[in-house]
Amino acid sequence: MEKYEQFDLSRINNLDIVEVAQRLGVNLRRSGSHYLMLCPWHDDTHPSLVLYNHSGDMHCHCYSCGAHHSVIDLAMALEGWSFQEACQWLSTEFGIGILPFGVYAPKPKRKPMEIVKEPEYTYISMPMVDELVTVRNPLCRCLMRMGKFPPEQIEWLTEEYRLGCYVLNEDEEWTVFPCIDGFGRVYNLKIQLYDTDPTSTRFGHSLENSYWLGGMWRNDGRFPEKAVFHSACMFGEHLLTKNPNSRVALVESPKNALFGALFDPSMTWLAVGSKGMLKRDVLQPLQGRDVMVIPDRDAIIEWTDALRGMADIANFTVSDFCLRYAPEGELKFDIADYLQQLWAEK
Ligand SMILES: [Zn+2]
Repeated sequence: MEKYEQFDLSRINNLDIVEVAQRLGVNLRRSGSHYLMLCPWHDDTHPSLVLYNHSGDMHCHCYSCGAHHSVIDLAMALEGWSFQEACQWLSTEFGIGILPFGVYAPKPKRKPMEIVKEPEYTYISMPMVDELVTVRNPLCRCLMRMGKFPPEQIEWLTEEYRLGCYVLNEDEEWTVFPCIDGFGRVYNLKIQLYDTDPTSTRFGHSLENSYWLGGMWRNDGRFPEKAVFHSACMFGEHLLTKNPNSRVALVESPKNALFGALFDPSMTWLAVGSKGMLKRDVLQPLQGRDVMVIPDRDAIIEWTDALRGMADIANFTVSDFCLRYAPEGELKFDIADYLQQLWAEK
């Protein structure tokens, strides 16, 4: 053992785990910001081993069997190598040197896969988000007006989801919804305009389309012209890390998630953002969770179909709540509409 200790094994274990898997000829599937592969520690048929290649913390984790391993472990499991063989191959392959292990670097079984480099994504910094966070954002002002919740609860909601206010066109106040992943990286900021006139029949409803601040700030020169933003993660995704054991409720719009969180804070409420975002890559962070999916009335069939092939990700239950409670003829009914009605009645 003494011999190995002269070597800093951390240099080997800090090698980019994605690149190691690629050089060992593994078929990788991209999932959001991660790569997935078939787990060598159990009889895997859907890729469930996630490779985490964040600097300083290279590891892999299987959401199916719970295996949690290092770069060296992965090479050993894939090739059937001994510890020494795996270290020797990794060290030689990546130019660290030859280790005095008395074993030669073995040859991997498969040809290396082409190395697909992830684009260098631009993330929005947390201070940029913090600058915008305020409980005086238009959507929370509507909630205050509804008079159903004490200010502390609305402040809690603002803090949890980092809600903000952004002024556009001189005086229009837009509500800011940050998309933050489980590692605290801000993918983008969605902004939406709401009708804040309490006498309007559309009070609390969205006006116009939503926009993304990342792209707007790139056009303004606040980000470099070549900045690439990730397609959004789920709104509220960072709360999955914070609440690892809670049940999850998944809805379409951020407003639905926020109203839901006020109604039942025991669940973690997330929003996919739009109908088309109900995709494998987007839903991957829900691995292993119990998820109650509450589609808008007009999306129940589409979402039920889309989730049918994704039972390996999470235990999804699709609710027809919005169909049962929608008033006659109202096709666009969602859970926020229901809750707003409910809160107005009392
Ligand atoms: Zn596994």
